[in-house]
Amino acid sequence: MHSKLTKKDILRILNAADSEIIDYMSQTSKYRENNLITYSKNVFIPLTEICRNDCGYCNFKKNPDDPEAIILKTKEEVLESLKEAEQYGCKEALFTFGENADEEEVVQHKLAEYGYEEMIDYITDICQMTLNETSLLPHTNGGNFTFDELTKLKEVNASLGLMLENSSDRLMKLPAHNKSPGKDPKLRLETIANAGKLKIPYTTGILIGIGETKEEIAESLIAIKELYEEYEHIQEVIIQNFTPIPGIEMENWAEPTFLDMVRTVIAATLLFADTDVSIQVPPNLNNETAQIFLLCGADDWGGVSPVSPDYVNITSPWPGIDELKRLTQDAGFELKERLCIYEKYINTEWLNGNLLEKVSNLSPHQ
Ligand code: SF4
Repeated sequence: MHSKLTKKDILRILNAADSEIIDYMSQTSKYRENNLITYSKNVFIPLTEICRNDCGYCNFKKNPDDPEAIILKTKEEVLESLKEAEQYGCKEALFTFGENADEEEVVQHKLAEYGYEEMIDYITDICQMTLNETSLLPHTNGGNFTFDELTKLKEVNASLGLMLENSSDRLMKLPAHNKSPGKDPKLRLETIANAGKLKIPYTTGILIGIGETKEEIAESLIAIKELYEEYEHIQEVIIQNFTPIPGIEMENWAEPTFLDMVRTVIAATLLFADTDVSIQVPPNLNNETAQIFLLCGADDWGGVSPVSPDYVNITSPWPGIDELKRLTQDAGFELKERLCIYEKYINTEWLNGNLLEKVSNLSPHQ
């Protein structure tokens, strides 16, 4: 197996069975440059739980009339969470929230109450406050943004993220995405490409088990690789598994099998083997099995928070950092903290002077 995989090669991996799977798994180790497995110590702050989409697997979005819903956090609330996170040594402020929440009147009213006309100005101010008043680095993941919005976000974020989920239009007809205009793959690929044009270090990935075919998984990974080849801004690719949770529309859908995850992580690893893009598997969605993915080439656990839950997967608590270290070492690797921006992007080509200084002052340690 050479590192420049074709779609046919990827499909062969995704359809592998029996000892073939073990053979592919062992090939991934050839491409490891070191024995480090990274993670970012973060705080997850959901700025709003309102979202214009309605994904069949969503466990995050709340209705605007739900009295429990976060409509829009105040700056004070955000700052309080950030200060607490600082005490725990967190270095990434992960702002994840629903897409185009300001399509809802309740959110518009809150924005006006806080003195904003546009959602993007509120988000940008929150990120700027994070930079001014804390040592944390903002990483925003709030759905699609226009080129102009990304231009604003770039100035106040160390990196940004958006899951591609899948590149197939067909999923727009399935429960996963049939009520989610923001999950249109054309739109998402455009957002990721615009981030590349703007030289924004970027995180993306795919969600498996939402009704896609193996062919569509292969095409999605190739689409991400092509974006990387054009702009070199993709620092990591997340391979996330759908997890059915009671109460969601897709609660009765089957989870992807463990081997589906294994095959997909191997395929992603071998596809990106000729790059320095990391392959990430969230440890909290794979409690019992996370270690195996390290043997399939995954080299990053993603954001792990000692202080906040994973609001997007609220029933799946993150392991503690000590537990993560134990799991990593037990598999033969070493756990290493990283920033939300990977080292190769820490320079003037990718960051403005203010961000560069801020990032350079943070040194993650084990
Ligand atoms: S999964 Fe994300 S985009 Fe989809 S409805 Fe939930 S919050 Fe919105």
